[in-house]
Amino acid sequence: MAKSIAIDGPAGAGKSTIAKLVAKELGYIYVDTGAMYRAMALFLIRNRIDRDDTGAIEAACEDADISIAYENGTQVVLLMGENVNDLLRTEEVGNMASASSVNARVRSKLVALQQKLAQNENVVMDGRDIGTVVLPDSRCKIYLTASVDVRAKRRYDELTAKGSAADLDKIKADIAERDERDMNRANSPLRQAEDAVLIDCSEMSIEEVKNEILRLAKEKL
Ligand code: C5P
Repeated sequence: MAKSIAIDGPAGAGKSTIAKLVAKELGYIYVDTGAMYRAMALFLIRNRIDRDDTGAIEAACEDADISIAYENGTQVVLLMGENVNDLLRTEEVGNMASASSVNARVRSKLVALQQKLAQNENVVMDGRDIGTVVLPDSRCKIYLTASVDVRAKRRYDELTAKGSAADLDKIKADIAERDERDMNRANSPLRQAEDAVLIDCSEMSIEEVKNEILRLAKEKL
């Protein structure tokens, strides 16, 4: 059976940075499930669908063709066959992803894709419901979190490093709003799986978090 490391946690905790490093070290594939919800969100934005219009979201979800490919070890998200990787990491897309991911049809479509990816390959998968819903039998589950202030500052630094304009207070408010929605939705809310190890990385370096997860992987897998 393929091995997996499931990493869940709130927005901006550093899941993707850490998951990529851990996957590289172990020779596993990194699966960024947030990018799939973001690709679905981009499709909704492009089709001018209102984030509160459940019927329209469900109809569009049927039409959205989302698939995953790997180029030089990097995950590429294809939306209707187009590589949309560079269009996914804006606040607009993130907020639409958070709003549309409450929808059960959106979730079941993307969860099926994620489970298929983990069937035959060793994966490090990050998201909100990996340990609880997508890979409930994973033997190595991590819940990675950090304070809202730390997460907002990291997102701010990430955006400004790319040359994008950013407003720290707005990012903080968006993160708090996204946490609230992700944790309180009816379908697959963000929560720590009972058998997940909690890592609060507010005061930890990337290297420290990576080493802690590698240590846990060695112990559990
Ligand atoms: O992790 P990222 O910020 O890219 O995810 C964008 C949004 O997609 C999250 O706010 C969350 O609402 C949703 N998501 C989810 N389940 C996942 C991954 C992401 O609901 N497994």
